[in-house]
Amino acid sequence: MRYAIEGGTVVTPDFILQDIAIVVDGETGTILHMGKDIPSVDMVVQLEKTDILFPGLINAHDHLLGTYYPRVGKGPYLNWYPWDNDLKSHPLYEERSRLSNQDLYWLGAYKNLISGVVTVSDHMPHVVNEPLIHDLPVFVLSNYTLEHECSSYDLRWGRGITIEHNEARERNIPFITHLEEGFDEEATLGVDILMEMGALDEYTVLIHGIALSEKDVATLATQKANLVWCPSSNYYMFQTTAPIKALLEAGVNVALGTDSPMSGGLHILDEMQFASSLYEKLYQEKLDPAILVRMVTVNAARALRLFDEGQIAEKKKANFTVVRGGHSHNPYESLVKADLSDIRLVIREGVPLYGSTHFLSFFSHFPNHYQQLFIAGGEKILIGKPIHFYRELCKKLGFAKQLPFFPLTLPEGTAVCP
Ligand SMILES: [Zn+2]
Repeated sequence: MRYAIEGGTVVTPDFILQDIAIVVDGETGTILHMGKDIPSVDMVVQLEKTDILFPGLINAHDHLLGTYYPRVGKGPYLNWYPWDNDLKSHPLYEERSRLSNQDLYWLGAYKNLISGVVTVSDHMPHVVNEPLIHDLPVFVLSNYTLEHECSSYDLRWGRGITIEHNEARERNIPFITHLEEGFDEEATLGVDILMEMGALDEYTVLIHGIALSEKDVATLATQKANLVWCPSSNYYMFQTTAPIKALLEAGVNVALGTDSPMSGGLHILDEMQFASSLYEKLYQEKLDPAILVRMVTVNAARALRLFDEGQIAEKKKANFTVVRGGHSHNPYESLVKADLSDIRLVIREGVPLYGSTHFLSFFSHFPNHYQQLFIAGGEKILIGKPIHFYRELCKKLGFAKQLPFFPLTLPEGTAVCP
């Protein structure tokens, strides 16, 4: 099937276009054509005039296994290790453990999807997430190599920095490592260690980097390394964050990540809003919203080496996040200020996954199982069986858990705890 999306405004970090149509090849899930003239198609998806269509959003660092609420901890901490101990000794940790790993990955996938995210990079090693990620309604990166962190309190997830980094280069995939998430002597040496080992280059994706020095920032820029900024989590745990202004000025490729909702942002929209307000608080100037949009689209795709994502262009994946405009005359700001109720439609590889019932007939062309429900006050269609899923969660927990990143209202007459 071939369909066209028209109406609304098409916005990427590089252009803003009105009165154009995007033609999607349903077979390959890619963009066939963009322009004012529409070739013959099987269906037209009509956006509203105020709708803004962005590339599908990418959450560059999440902990899907930690999808729970609320946050836990009493920072500021010296590094992540004592936070992890606080989490594991907290009653919420026991409560969360009533859910299976599969439940938590699904919850994390729904959390991301309803905030407009189509692609997620997950914190965990392959041995944990590989069996759980392939049926999820969002794409979770599986091609990466990993070292948890270069410190003595590292969780020994990888086979060593050199082996993991070499494999990333050979396979043209990212080498992901947490770096300088703390202020102890070891944490502050992260960049030097990676440099010494020859493991700092365009394949390297560093998570956090809150203790980066001026010299480290210059090194990251020269080496073309990537950084994932997790401001909510950093600020909650350490009351500070990566030197973001210096990183941007140096030209480092920065993506945005929510980290775990038990320390970080509720979802990517919440994270963008927090990033924007924190930047203003730290530097008494506004962070250009187009830069934030770049961090959740092209920059994230570049860091994770997903070269057919994060952009809207012919032959790229047909991944789109449609947001209700109107928060601002600046469309980038409309995304930064959006909340869950503003997400109008989410498409991944040509397939609608989530959206307003306004698009009901579009969804009806696809054979997937969908359910209609109220999310954040709006009537929506969501892939899978989210109502059954939520009821199962509540049954396992023994009560109706309120999750602000998955605020669904069940249809009238449906008991939460069956
Ligand atoms: Zn992490």
